[in-house]
Amino acid sequence: MISTDNKYDYIIIGAGCAGLSLAYRLLNKNYKICILESNKNINEKNKLWSFWDTKKTPFNHLIKKRWEYLIIKNKSESIKINCKDYNYQSINSSDFNNYIINKINKNINFDLIFSEKVENIKKNNNEVILTTSKNIYKCKHIFDSSPKIQKVFMWQKFFGAYVEAEEEIFDEKSPIFMEFSDTENKFHFMYILPFSKKTALIESTYFSCHEEKEMLDENFIDSYMHKKHPNKKYTIQKTEFGRIPMDTKINSITEDYITKIGSYSGVTRASTGYTFINIQKQADKLANIMPVISGNNESKRYFHSILLRKMDAVFLEIISNNPEYMKNALMDLFRTKKHNPQIRFLSDTPTILDILKIIIYLPKIKFMQYALGIKKNLNDK
Ligand SMILES: Cc1cc2nc3c(=O)[nH]c(=O)nc-3n(C[C@H](O)[C@H](O)[C@H](O)COP(=O)(O)OP(=O)(O)OC[C@H]3O[C@@H](n4cnc5c(N)ncnc54)[C@H](O)[C@@H]3O)c2cc1C
Repeated sequence: MISTDNKYDYIIIGAGCAGLSLAYRLLNKNYKICILESNKNINEKNKLWSFWDTKKTPFNHLIKKRWEYLIIKNKSESIKINCKDYNYQSINSSDFNNYIINKINKNINFDLIFSEKVENIKKNNNEVILTTSKNIYKCKHIFDSSPKIQKVFMWQKFFGAYVEAEEEIFDEKSPIFMEFSDTENKFHFMYILPFSKKTALIESTYFSCHEEKEMLDENFIDSYMHKKHPNKKYTIQKTEFGRIPMDTKINSITEDYITKIGSYSGVTRASTGYTFINIQKQADKLANIMPVISGNNESKRYFHSILLRKMDAVFLEIISNNPEYMKNALMDLFRTKKHNPQIRFLSDTPTILDILKIIIYLPKIKFMQYALGIKKNLNDK
C-alpha cells in the first residue's frame, strides 16, 4: 500500500483491457495511482483479443498465434483474404493481465485493489471522491472504463468454445473470419481460429439489434462440429462469451474530472467490434498528454472520424434492415486481388485512397440510398 490516506493522483476504474493498458503506460511516470476493480479475479472469464498487425504494441511478445490468411465464405463461395503484410494475430487476456499485473505489483506507486466496485463519484473543491462498497478514495482525476450505457444500436453477441480434437482435423493456416450461416434474415456467422491441427476456437456470432438466444451455446458448437467433422472426437476445454457494443454514437463526454476509457468511451469500431488496438492507441495518447487535470480534458468527443462513423452507421443500418444483402456486400468487398485497403479500413487506419477503394468495391447505389436516408425498411429492394 503506497497510500495510507487513500489519496492518489489518479484513480483508474476497472482492471480490464483499457485500465491495464493505461496503467502500463503510467508505470514510469511517478504518479500515485490506484486501480479499483469490482471483480475478485479478472482471469476468471477468458477473452481472446484478435486484430491485424497494423500497429505495434508493447504486447507483441504475448501474441499466441499469427495467421497470413483469413477466409470469408458463404454456401457457394470461399474467398482467401491475404494478410501477409498485416498478419491476423491473437493475445489471450490472461497472458496480458498477468504480464501487466506483475509489473504493477512491483511498482511502489501503484495500488491495485480487487473486489471493490465504485458506487459513487463526486467532486468537492479540488478533490474527486469515490465511494466503493468498502472505502472512500480521493484523487485529482479519474480514468473510468466502467460501462455506462443504457441503449446501444446493435450488439455483437457471441459464444465460443475452445475445442481439442483427438485427430488432426483443423487447417491451422486457414482461420475463418466469417462463415455466413444459412439463417435467413439474421447477420449470423461462424468465426474459427485454429491454433494447431488439433485445437481451435469455434465461435458463433451475431451482429443484431435483437435479443438473440439461439445458436449461442455448446449444443450449437457440437452441431457445427458434427456437420463439419463428422465422427471426429473432441472435447471442449473452455468457453468464452460476451457482447460488444456496435454504435457510432458512443462518445467520451462526461464530467471534466473524469476521462472515459475503453469500449464505452467510443473506441470500439462500431461496424466490427474491434477494440483492442484502439484501446492501445487511446492509452498511448493519454500517457502523452499527462498530466491530465480536471478542466483540462483534452480527449476528443469522438474517437473515430466523422467519415468512418458515417460509413459505419450505413453498414449497421444495412445489417439491421437487410442482413442478407450485407452478407453479399461483404463478399463483394473482398473479391479483389489485394486486401490491404480493406484490412486498413477494418483496423481504423485507412488512407483516403483506401476509403475510396472501399466505396468502389461495395454496391454503390444501395449504400448511397442508405447514406442519404432514402432506404430504411427491411423490404426495401
Ligand atoms: C469475449 C470477448 C472477446 C473479444 N474479442 C475481441 C477481439 O478479438 N478483438 C478486439 O479488438 N476486441 C475484442 N473484444 C472487445 C474488447 O477488446 C474487449 O471487450 C475489451 O476487454 C474491452 O476493454 P475495456 O477495458 O473497455 O472493458 P473491460 O475489459 O470489460 O474492463 C472493464 C473493467 O471494469 C470493471 N468494472 C466495471 N464497473 C466497475 C465499477 N463500478 N467499479 C470497479 N470496476 C468496475 C469490470 O469488472 C471490468 O474488469 C472482445 C470482447 C469480449 C467480451
